[in-house]
Amino acid sequence: MNFPTEPFLNGAFRDPASKNRTTLINPATEEPLCDVAAASVEEVNFAVQSASEVWHSTWRDMKPGKRAEILFSIARVLRENSERIARLECAQIGKPISDARDEAALGARVFEYYAGAIGKFCGQTIPVASGGFDFTLRQPMGVVAAIVPWNFPFPIACWKVAPALAAGNSVVLKPASLSPLTALVLGELAHAAGLPAGALQVLPGSGSSIGDALVTNALVRKVSFTGSTEVGRRIMELASRDLKRISLELGGKSPNIVFADSDWRLAAESSPMSVFANTGQDCCARSRVFVEKSIFEAFVEVFLDATRKLVVGDPEKDETQLGPLVSSGQRVVVEEFLADARARGNKFACGGGRLFSKGYFLEPTVLLEVGKEDRCWREEIFGPVVCITPFEEEARMIQDVNASPYGLSGSIWTNDLRRAIRVSRAVESGVLSVNSHSSLHVEAPFGGFKQSGIGRDLGMHAMEGYTELKNVYVAL
Ligand code: NAP
Ligand code: MG
Repeated sequence: MNFPTEPFLNGAFRDPASKNRTTLINPATEEPLCDVAAASVEEVNFAVQSASEVWHSTWRDMKPGKRAEILFSIARVLRENSERIARLECAQIGKPISDARDEAALGARVFEYYAGAIGKFCGQTIPVASGGFDFTLRQPMGVVAAIVPWNFPFPIACWKVAPALAAGNSVVLKPASLSPLTALVLGELAHAAGLPAGALQVLPGSGSSIGDALVTNALVRKVSFTGSTEVGRRIMELASRDLKRISLELGGKSPNIVFADSDWRLAAESSPMSVFANTGQDCCARSRVFVEKSIFEAFVEVFLDATRKLVVGDPEKDETQLGPLVSSGQRVVVEEFLADARARGNKFACGGGRLFSKGYFLEPTVLLEVGKEDRCWREEIFGPVVCITPFEEEARMIQDVNASPYGLSGSIWTNDLRRAIRVSRAVESGVLSVNSHSSLHVEAPFGGFKQSGIGRDLGMHAMEGYTELKNVYVAL
């Protein structure tokens, strides 16, 4: 496999000023993959400066039709290279290859959507009381810093970069230390597809060493971040100094609510993958399952059966559904949660242990009898662990659902239309799904309430988030 290992600056992979390198480890085999250079603070500043220059000279005022053509061309080149992208994703984070292929296609689809959005995203004319001619413009901001995590590295990079470029901004992309490869390939392929050099810069490097320099650079007008609530809070604090725009997509502790009047068997069969997919490393993971008491025992039985059938193993195999955790560190984090569950006497209905002699694998784990004050109930675990609890009364259950500081996603299973609408209104969450576990549609807004974040990715809402709104009044 050919690994990109240098920062992608001004349309080329460059030798870094710093010889600082991180060794990537394949989490399924524990074998080293390659050594990726870390960008220095000087390179961050150079990248932002150059991105700003290309924005002023070329990208900001490019005709919308030409910009759309370039984004369509990026989508095409991404599709042509989708197998390479999927293989790199699989190798660097242990993502099952079938999921990695879907996500490579999703990234291309995001570019197609925003290429098409360019000619459809527009301002208004407003009949102001004083007469005259009043209109609004949606204008690009300048340089956008996109900071992305390791759990869905390629699609998240695409769904920040594509709308930011479509709206006429240039972008400096910082991938997570564990997953720089597909972001670097995105930079390379976007440039090969015709994006002007410097309009997308890609800077591998650790958040703790270059994050502050990127976020506080005066030429960065917006920071678009996906990751932990802790780092999101720091970005918000730093951005407040010069009132930079921010959008933050943070953690979650999403509910899966199953009423007795639903097709609960279908819910039970499909629910394990709503929490264990991506080995639970998903901000939308349905990690708190609320099941109406009359069906609780039967539901748990079907849920456990479906869990035991999940194919855990080598992420390079087509049939694998769950790979390893992303790193030994992440596995330790999850095991600390499991130790806490044991100490508190939570019931392990299945799982709880490691799997295989190599790789950072953990069994999918189902916990019952978890107290509402227990860590596994309250905190985002980011691993293959679910808590299932019975409920009796709808109103009380909704209070428990909303007691979380998070509010990202969730599922509601019922065949009662009025209940579906009532509960959808009551749950404090940015994204909900009735009788399914989908969280994400390219065309629809994605983001959280409360400590799950600020702002929205995807849909036309993302275009709003990457533009400033200007009102112009012309006296007649
Ligand atoms: P994280 O630290 O928030 O990482 C997300 C991104 O932020 C990475 O690119 C990271 O770079 C960067 N970063 C870290 N410190 C930064 C700083 N001071 N300034 C600017 N950028 C910075 O998340 P993590 O440590 O990888 O994971 C910890 C927990 O966060 C997980 O267990 C999970 O609960 C949550 N998480 C949520 C999501 C989500 O989708 N909402 C995604 C990932 C993680 P480095 O990789 O170089 O540190
Ligand atoms: Mg971190």
